[in-house]
Amino acid sequence: MNYIVLDLEWNQSPTGRVIKNKYGALPFEIIEIGAVKMDEDCKIISSFSRVIKPAVYLKLHKAVARLLPINMRDLLKGRGFIEVITDFLKWCGDDVIFCTWGEADLLQIQRNMRFHGMDIPFPFPFLYIDLQKIFSACHPCGKKNPSLSNAVDMLGLPKGSSFHRAINDAHYTALVAQHLDRERFKTDFSVDTFRIPEKESQEIRIVTRDTETYITRGYKRRETAASAYALREGKCFLCGCTLKRRVRWFCDNGKNYNAAFTCLKHGYIAGKIRVRKTDKALYYAIRIMELTDKEGVDEIREKMVKEKERTKMKPEGKTDEVFRL
Ligand SMILES: [Zn+2]
Repeated sequence: MNYIVLDLEWNQSPTGRVIKNKYGALPFEIIEIGAVKMDEDCKIISSFSRVIKPAVYLKLHKAVARLLPINMRDLLKGRGFIEVITDFLKWCGDDVIFCTWGEADLLQIQRNMRFHGMDIPFPFPFLYIDLQKIFSACHPCGKKNPSLSNAVDMLGLPKGSSFHRAINDAHYTALVAQHLDRERFKTDFSVDTFRIPEKESQEIRIVTRDTETYITRGYKRRETAASAYALREGKCFLCGCTLKRRVRWFCDNGKNYNAAFTCLKHGYIAGKIRVRKTDKALYYAIRIMELTDKEGVDEIREKMVKEKERTKMKPEGKTDEVFRL
């Protein structure tokens, strides 16, 4: 088994108008791919770097032009997306685990593949290692999503090459990976949600040492996804005991749902449900149950009290639907 540390750079519509074809929309067009292959001991054994000739947006968006040390002239010398991705997948080989900084790269690579009519070759569920998440867990710094550059600074790694070139970022990400608790790479998987479960039997449940992630199938209505039966189950993800409820599920600012529980054996557990929408306009829920401490529960309770105050102040009839399980 090898690790593939992947980084992509993408452009977006310079005019703001998103191009669609019969397969779907392409808000972000990948223009560069960089990847580093590491063996099981996180030793770098190979690398892959290509620019991709744009086919959809032929001008760089202002913000992209400002950020990336690359111009359209360089990009037009690249090969087409399908050819590059086919080479890339061949280079990856079988039996690999993808590692990325954050969750965007795997989503964008699949969205670009679909736009170009390619089959998605990845397994379902598609598990990967989000090194940003593992870095945050190993090096809490107050920031929930530290940038790669922050991580490189915090670890005191040398900054020899510029950021925002895909191969450089992939290389930096691999160096950061080498400094993290490798045991976590065997358990702390993230789940990609470009493809979501189509039916109940495909719903996804991943348990790590301190969290449980549950992903439902898609629903037509946001509220149905949030209150899906599967999310109600009040059992500890580590021992299966019935949880005692500390803070009842409540909706926070119309977006996330929060709750808090205790397990007699495992202590405090924070619950969070986020509802997201797929490209196909289906709503699915991601529930995360996570071990926490007394302060964690107090924070959730404070949030609940604030939310109650906020909704009380709203004129009648405009109160958010409070989520009750
Ligand atoms: Zn328990």
